[in-house]
Amino acid sequence: MTPRAFSYARVSGRDQADSGYSLPAQRERAAAFAQFHALPVPIHFEDPAVSGKRDARPAWVAMMGQVRAGDTVLAKDLTRIARGGIVQTLTLIRDIEARGARLVLIDQSLDTSTPFGRVVLSILATLAEYELEQTRERSMIGRTFAAKAGIWPQGSVPYGYLRNAEKRLELNPATREPVRAALLALVGRSYQEASEELRGQGIPSPTGKPNWSPARLHALAQQTAYIGRAVFVSGGERIEVPCPRLLSDEEWEALHAGRRAFSGGERRPDRYPLVGHLRCPHGAPMNGRQESHRNAGMVSRYHVSGRLKRHYGCGCPSFRAAQVDDAARDLLARVLTDPTDPAHLALLTGATPLSDGREQERQEVQESLSNLARLRVLGQIEERDYLSLREELKARERALTPKPRQVTEVPVMNELAADVREASSEHLAELLDLLDVRLLIQPDGTLELLGLRPLDTVQQAV
Ligand SMILES: [Zn+2]
Repeated sequence: MTPRAFSYARVSGRDQADSGYSLPAQRERAAAFAQFHALPVPIHFEDPAVSGKRDARPAWVAMMGQVRAGDTVLAKDLTRIARGGIVQTLTLIRDIEARGARLVLIDQSLDTSTPFGRVVLSILATLAEYELEQTRERSMIGRTFAAKAGIWPQGSVPYGYLRNAEKRLELNPATREPVRAALLALVGRSYQEASEELRGQGIPSPTGKPNWSPARLHALAQQTAYIGRAVFVSGGERIEVPCPRLLSDEEWEALHAGRRAFSGGERRPDRYPLVGHLRCPHGAPMNGRQESHRNAGMVSRYHVSGRLKRHYGCGCPSFRAAQVDDAARDLLARVLTDPTDPAHLALLTGATPLSDGREQERQEVQESLSNLARLRVLGQIEERDYLSLREELKARERALTPKPRQVTEVPVMNELAADVREASSEHLAELLDLLDVRLLIQPDGTLELLGLRPLDTVQQAV
């Protein structure tokens, strides 16, 4: 029998009408492809979006009833085939293969009968194993592949969204309104003013409480998910995943308009990602300064305490920005990955900030407790008084002790560390904001980490 070609098209309720995913557009694409590649005119099958019944695919089933050895199945891309996760998607592809037919994904230039196609299939198979194992840590290539197919590859989602059963982003009816309110509060206001406004109104932040901060709002305002392009970062690569939007382009522009003016115009995260996170021992915030050299048209960038020098009584030199940036990347990556680093522990458990200023009080209470015990042993205090005093001191000790919360997984920290090392300056600046990093630069250029924010809040803010 002569080999035949089949074309398969599908739309779901989520597909935008104008994105080339309409049924006629998919059909024409397949027909043109077949003609160009001297394939027979495809026998066409299509599954329109069916309301109520989620993801029913009678046409796919009907088509598979006819596909046999030597045939070619054409589809626009993997999202037309993808279904309920990678395992099920792979099952559908294997089904075609098992009949001796091949699948060609036109837009992805993928033909399952070629060596490259086999490699991609093996990647899919690897992914399927991961999925079966319910492993959270996916390989970078797998995540990239899935993300490009419209799948949101991780459990934490941008605030205001949820990940549905097909692992795609949907607006979350419970949080979409607070996010909109938060973003629109930024129109005509600085991050500081907007966060005060939102706290006043009691609008819940990603933590569920109205504890808005400028850094959190800044992180939110960088999320292009709200205009339909969720960004997932894997190994320093930014991958856009299409998602439903929460703001119109006009609203998005309005909240970013004049932003530079509010931040003092000094901040150029593309050139000086550390500005806003770096101080000298005299307390002066470091600013970026650029110097051009007359010969060769070269430009050097420095961190300087600048015009605030006198105010802080600072005598620090200027530092080469590129060197400081590299040192900061190294330092942060080490903290994120080195389990023996005390700051790492703070990130992992959210237990204590590096220093919460209450060590002295804790020590006093502990000394009082041991003195009390000594008094009791020496018989200088009644048991009843001892017990009530002890209870009182214990309560104070508990109040002074930060509660450890086991929240962050090590793979997340490893990923962040990889980001910190590889990210563009602009993205590094975002990460520094998210982590609320505070660094000190000594006059000899050595960096010290003064503090950062526990990671669970970071995860939710992302
Ligand atoms: Zn100084």
